[in-house]
Amino acid sequence: MGLSLEAILTIRVTIWNEGRHEKTDAPVRAIYPDRIDGALAAGLAGRDFEIVRATLDDPAQGLPQELLDRTDVLLWWGHVAHEEVADAVIDRVQQRILAGMGLVVLHSGHHSKMFRRMMGTNCNLAWRELPQGDLERIWVINPAHPIAEGLPPYFEIPQSEMYGEPFDIPAADEIITLSWYKGGEVFRSGLTFYRGLGRIFYFSPGHETFPIYHHPMVHKIIGNGIEWAMRPHGSARKLDNWHRKVPIHR
Ligand code: ZN
Repeated sequence: MGLSLEAILTIRVTIWNEGRHEKTDAPVRAIYPDRIDGALAAGLAGRDFEIVRATLDDPAQGLPQELLDRTDVLLWWGHVAHEEVADAVIDRVQQRILAGMGLVVLHSGHHSKMFRRMMGTNCNLAWRELPQGDLERIWVINPAHPIAEGLPPYFEIPQSEMYGEPFDIPAADEIITLSWYKGGEVFRSGLTFYRGLGRIFYFSPGHETFPIYHHPMVHKIIGNGIEWAMRPHGSARKLDNWHRKVPIHR
């Protein structure tokens, strides 16, 4: 009979959350009682995703090879324990991305070993964390892009951590959203990158002490990012090193 249509269309998503704030920080637990990965999984429940949740403190740091091999798109949330992620884990995730797995990097994941590996730069930026937060207005500047599907011209997050330019990254392949803050700063907040056969979406709105991962518009754009990052060309030739000993002449 072959695969059902449903099996072909379902995207296998792994939400990887460092998961430390939720263990040690009561205010974070109050906002995210089922952890940040739980809030994201709940927000994405209406999509055709098969979701696995993993954390840094799971066996193999939550990312064993066999899980990566059956992951179409990996979400990455980290903040205080970037340096604890083993280089061997970063190596195998990088190779899966280059072979076609999608990667969606969230908020403070900008400073993760994973994102820095894929960018090749330090990924530094400007930031400000006020107790009451900063108003962030997210402008959709590439409305024709699939990640912008169904989004209004702009939306607002009343309490956000300011992430501002300059953002030390290589030029993005596409800029989907640009954020403005009440404090006057701007930031390239929704970006795509192509690496090997893989697609990467970075989306900055987030933060553990504000309820941003309960925001329906944030769920929508992350869900769109997952669908976009799913490799649409499964039979593509692997980009192996290719010794062309014999020239092609006619
Ligand atoms: Zn933050």
